[in-house]
Amino acid sequence: QGWFQHLKVPRRDTICEARLRCRADPNPDKIDLSLVTFRDDDNNAIVLESVREAKRQAQLADGAHEIQSLAGHPGFVQRAIELAYGADAACIREGRVAAVQTVSGTAACRLFAQFQFRHYRYRQIHMPRPTWFNHLKIWEHLRIQRSDYRYYGGRTRDVNWAGFTQDLERMSAGEIVLLQPCAHNPTGCDLDLAQWQEAAEIMLEGRLFPFFDCAYQGLASGDLDNDAQGIRAFEQSGHEMAVAQSFAANTTLWGERPGCLSFVCSTAKEAEAVQTSLEVMARSLWSSPPAYGARIVHTLLSDPDLRQQWEAEVKGMTETLQQRRQALVQGLMDASEETWQSWALHGSPHQMQDSEDDAPSRLDCEAALNQRGMFSMIGLNPKQVAILHKEHSIYPTRNGRIALGGITPSNLQKAPHSLLSKML
Ligand code: PLP
Repeated sequence: QGWFQHLKVPRRDTICEARLRCRADPNPDKIDLSLVTFRDDDNNAIVLESVREAKRQAQLADGAHEIQSLAGHPGFVQRAIELAYGADAACIREGRVAAVQTVSGTAACRLFAQFQFRHYRYRQIHMPRPTWFNHLKIWEHLRIQRSDYRYYGGRTRDVNWAGFTQDLERMSAGEIVLLQPCAHNPTGCDLDLAQWQEAAEIMLEGRLFPFFDCAYQGLASGDLDNDAQGIRAFEQSGHEMAVAQSFAANTTLWGERPGCLSFVCSTAKEAEAVQTSLEVMARSLWSSPPAYGARIVHTLLSDPDLRQQWEAEVKGMTETLQQRRQALVQGLMDASEETWQSWALHGSPHQMQDSEDDAPSRLDCEAALNQRGMFSMIGLNPKQVAILHKEHSIYPTRNGRIALGGITPSNLQKAPHSLLSKML
């Protein structure tokens, strides 16, 4: 009789579940499509050259292990907000931004949710359907109610713009809306600048509060400024808002956990109150965030040569992702009609995705070429995913998300073919 006999083993989230199953699979030809890190041909995580150099410089500059302040590395935080809002943004010039370093993007979301729980009257958050699985859990743990808004078009493999704006218009004043500014996880479908501007107007008029979760800046278009256009359109339209930033994917510093949470307030005085509130909350969560990753990112973003090299490498990563997407989709489109029909027998690929039309087609797949960032959704439903896991050692996540970072040059050849042929 133990203290924990009442405890049931909880269900893992879809990403961990796929990863653990893959790790336990003895098949040497298994393909892990749940991974979010970039892999080289030998399945090792890639480290950018600019980051290697920044690492050397950051270590030389300061080898001490002094604890950081509650708000983290001030230089890193400054560079982070400049990257999000633009170096010349009015909110930065006017001292209206409150910001703290966090333990990567996950804890930035968590700290925002905690702030919402503690200081915000409206205990509800609106999230895109579908969204990153951890969004659901972070807010659920704080018992904050969630409601979904339409985002993904399913059959068209694109943003459901009409559904999205209708849902925004139905929300009540004061509510919070979670938005992903670029490389939407898991769909890879983003709004364009005109759509961001229109969404900003609707939300300003409806008095809705935007919370941006920015986990992949640079990896959607290959351009860091371009990928922040949604955040900047909101800032320029006069919104108060919050932004969570992860530097895991765009610097490849996954394990070092540099991240940032910032708030744009209407006055410098309000920003000061928010700043202290964030520091008070951070104190009881992690007291002081880890220094190493923040030092590296600070060096990377401050040294003009390193920064230029980093921006080129981010562009290169984006191009690689697009090539992998292209190869995957082309492989699927080249499959025979018979194969496609067999695939359809396993059920509609749109089960989870707001679609009224059930028939899978090559057109669906072709539309997936327009998706951007780390992921691809080609319409796999949970039943098809289960077959791929159990019978064929191919591991996308349960919602059908394929992580392109996990498609290595060596399995790129076989991935699309085995995805389809092994469904039979
Ligand atoms: N937000 C989204 C949408 C993500 O996809 C991720 C990572 O998968 C994160 C936030 C946070 O990641 P991390 O905590 O590794 O920075």
